[in-house]
Amino acid sequence: MIERTLSILKPDAVSKNHIGQIIARFEKAQLKVVGLKMQTLTPEDAKAFYRIHQNQPFFESLVSFMSSGPIVALALEGENAVSKTRSLMGATDPKKADPGTIRADFAESIDANAVHGSDSPENAAIEIPFFFRTLDLVLSSP
Ligand code: UDP
Ligand code: MG
Repeated sequence: MIERTLSILKPDAVSKNHIGQIIARFEKAQLKVVGLKMQTLTPEDAKAFYRIHQNQPFFESLVSFMSSGPIVALALEGENAVSKTRSLMGATDPKKADPGTIRADFAESIDANAVHGSDSPENAAIEIPFFFRTLDLVLSSP
């Protein structure tokens, strides 16, 4: 099924000049970029985006890291875009990520782990509008 997902290239990936290489992996996997935006999140933005994790012990450090520098938000479209993006990303902890995944190749720690991807179509439907208005997104592929 053709679906959409939200990915974020996190501040570590942006500061290390990995934007192009990570987007290339998505495109090579037949995911189409249908929205793209670079911005620096305020701590309030990051808290709102990650509110599902607000009771986790890592919440404060996650918010601080995600607002520490520019990020690139991507809306991606393709066959099984949510699970495909998660497979390309690899495990949350880059030490546990399969070889060849984005996190194995570009991330250095569980907090600075290069990339975010929606974990379900339901969350993608919440996360895409967090960053993109309808007018900011490409219309569905033919
Ligand atoms: N995170 C962290 N420490 C942890 C677990 C998670 O810093 O012990 C951060 C990490 O950046 C992760 C984000 O919180 O990507 C969201 O956690 P989640 O479990 O949703 O992982 P993801 O879906 O990103 O793989
Ligand atoms: Mg998650």
